[in-house]
Amino acid sequence: MIPVYKHTNIKNLSIEAQKLLVHCMVCPRKCGVNRIKEELGQCQTGKDAMVCSYGTHFGEERELVGLHGSGTIFFSYCNLHCVFCQNYDISQRGEGYKVSAEQLAKMMLDLQNQGCHNINLVSPTHIVPQFLQAFLIAKEKGLNLPIVYNSGGYDSVETLQLLDGVIDIYMPDTKYSSNDLGEKYSGVKDYWTVNQLVLKEMYRQVGDLVINKQGLAEQGLLVRHLVLPNQIAGSFEVLKFIAEEISKNTYVNIMDQYRPCYLGDRFTELSRRITQQEYNEVVNFAHKLGLGLRNLLCNHE
Ligand code: SF4
Repeated sequence: MIPVYKHTNIKNLSIEAQKLLVHCMVCPRKCGVNRIKEELGQCQTGKDAMVCSYGTHFGEERELVGLHGSGTIFFSYCNLHCVFCQNYDISQRGEGYKVSAEQLAKMMLDLQNQGCHNINLVSPTHIVPQFLQAFLIAKEKGLNLPIVYNSGGYDSVETLQLLDGVIDIYMPDTKYSSNDLGEKYSGVKDYWTVNQLVLKEMYRQVGDLVINKQGLAEQGLLVRHLVLPNQIAGSFEVLKFIAEEISKNTYVNIMDQYRPCYLGDRFTELSRRITQQEYNEVVNFAHKLGLGLRNLLCNHE
């Protein structure tokens, strides 16, 4: 399917987004650094995006993977500093290399040529301006795959508005339903406050997930929620919010694969995997809310 763009002039969007880099307001951290001059804020990323790797990926949700895989681009660094990050080499230590807009566009086109079903931007929050520049080039050269925005869920609503009509599938995390725990474990004071606004804006733009006859996601919202031990993720409140304030038809991937990576085992309450009972309680609650009888993706190993 060729996406229908509400904004016909992506160039203008890209120019607007570039302005955000001068006194960086790209994400809710609002560091105010001049990234055009290579000043670095919390995401350690200057003028150019950095990529750790890109390629066909079969480890994502089945609606993204299909037969030929999701065309995944892993961006280096992150605007969150989660103590239990599974990809900390990339997100916190910045494994990767700088790419120009032309190089990033070429990666997207390479993935399309390899037969991938979509372009999956992993951790794109801090490089939205750079992505838009590359997207413009790639569109002119024939890119026509759905674009997946796969973020930690701590995005700026104003920046997301620049992506209205560009992103087809939003796939944010909802990590916690507590600002205090967001500060303790991810280093931002207002995670839950921001995350709720983010989900609403994403849903406003793309609505419920639409799956085509081949079983592939074409457009919509898919929320990922990683269950943490000792109810740290506030799963019940997260699911209640999604069911009551977003949509009961929301695709929610309730994930069980938590393990104490990176600095996780420095926190006693995070130093173990979740139990089957903890996971079942969350899934049962989702069902009780009327979520997911059709849409719930329960990835229990
Ligand atoms: S994108 Fe990076 S520099 Fe800009 S506000 Fe966010 S963390 Fe700070």
